[in-house]
Amino acid sequence: MAKSELAELGDELDRKNEMSNAVWQRLTDTGLLRLTLKKEYGGEGLSESEYFPILEVCAQLQGGIRMLIHGANGLWRILDRHGSDEMKRAYLPPLAHGAYNAFVVTEPGAGSGRDLKTTGRQTKDGWVLSGQKHWATNADRAQVFCVIAKTVDEQGGDLGISAFLVERDRPGLTMDYMAPTNGCRGVRRGVLTFADCWIPAKNVIGGVGQGLDIAFRGFLDLGRLSIANCCVGLAQAALEEAVAFARERVTFGKPIADRQYIQGRLAEAATDVHAGRLIVQDAARKYDAGATITREAAMAKLFCTEMGGRVTDHAIRTLGGLGYTTDYKVERYYRDMRGMWFEEGTAETQKMLIGRDVVERGW
Ligand SMILES: Cc1cc2nc3c(=O)[nH]c(=O)nc-3n(C[C@H](O)[C@H](O)[C@H](O)COP(=O)(O)OP(=O)(O)OC[C@H]3O[C@@H](n4cnc5c(N)ncnc54)[C@H](O)[C@@H]3O)c2cc1C
Repeated sequence: MAKSELAELGDELDRKNEMSNAVWQRLTDTGLLRLTLKKEYGGEGLSESEYFPILEVCAQLQGGIRMLIHGANGLWRILDRHGSDEMKRAYLPPLAHGAYNAFVVTEPGAGSGRDLKTTGRQTKDGWVLSGQKHWATNADRAQVFCVIAKTVDEQGGDLGISAFLVERDRPGLTMDYMAPTNGCRGVRRGVLTFADCWIPAKNVIGGVGQGLDIAFRGFLDLGRLSIANCCVGLAQAALEEAVAFARERVTFGKPIADRQYIQGRLAEAATDVHAGRLIVQDAARKYDAGATITREAAMAKLFCTEMGGRVTDHAIRTLGGLGYTTDYKVERYYRDMRGMWFEEGTAETQKMLIGRDVVERGW
């Protein structure tokens, strides 16, 4: 599909704030949702270094499209790495044809980590899940959810955090939807309520107590890097629009691009985008070479979300009042950028991860 057609789809998604079946199917047909999926499951099998330049461009199209591509090309890894053969057979090949597996850790009543309150209590032949999750991206489309929850044995003894595969039609699971967001429109996010929702023992992903490791190694490390990469794409697009506008806009007899103030702002933005891209490329190369990139991914996410925030903000200011109207794309870039501050963890979370790692392992 040509970039211009995808851009039109993006405009429609942002305007209508709804992803129709036709749009989902169009995106599936492009192959963009299976770029990194292994060939044995029907995907294209791209490495991160090959995939990221494509994702950078996709991030510029529209936030909802970007979220879908980012999620689809990352979440399959959880089952590929940690799922049973039965899970892999059942849930990975359909991803090549538009199915979606959602990931949910965030809770309305707890912090994301050891603080989680959603609990799986062990029974003779399985687990009973109770609690609530929110922010399940694309919950309306998900075939299954990977749910990270606290686990306890029959007497309430602590078994750590575990990951469960929960089919969307499991009795005891009900779903509502969250309020629309400021950017990244066209994507629905679910609130999942588990009321004594029984899950068979075979639906534990990996081992009991492995949930946080699965969340990090299976998805979040690469997810953070992928978000950082998307920030680079969006910042680049905002910078390009700002430069084009500054060349054309004449005040007091000169294009504003000739003013030192404006050039200084553009120079900072260009440097920011370049630095962000290099951080992402470095981590992607390390990942492709088989390294663990927890620290690098957190650094990339931290730097690139702040960088993308600065650059999209500067771009709007360079366009003056017009930058605040929907006639220009920088208005949408700014809104789409904000979501990425939170996805896969806030700046504070990244700082905690980096700080802890630097203290434990040194520089
Ligand atoms: C567009 C979008 C899509 C998302 N998709 C998903 C998804 O698919 N699945 C999913 O599980 N989640 C998803 N999320 C949720 C996202 O991961 C969380 O919003 C994010 O991790 C922050 O958690 P929170 O919203 O609970 O904020 P809170 O934990 O309530 O934090 C509020 C503020 O307090 C700070 N804070 C919290 N705890 C501490 C602490 N211990 N020390 C210092 N500061 C602290 C935070 O940094 C933040 O600034 C999505 C979010 C967005 C915006």
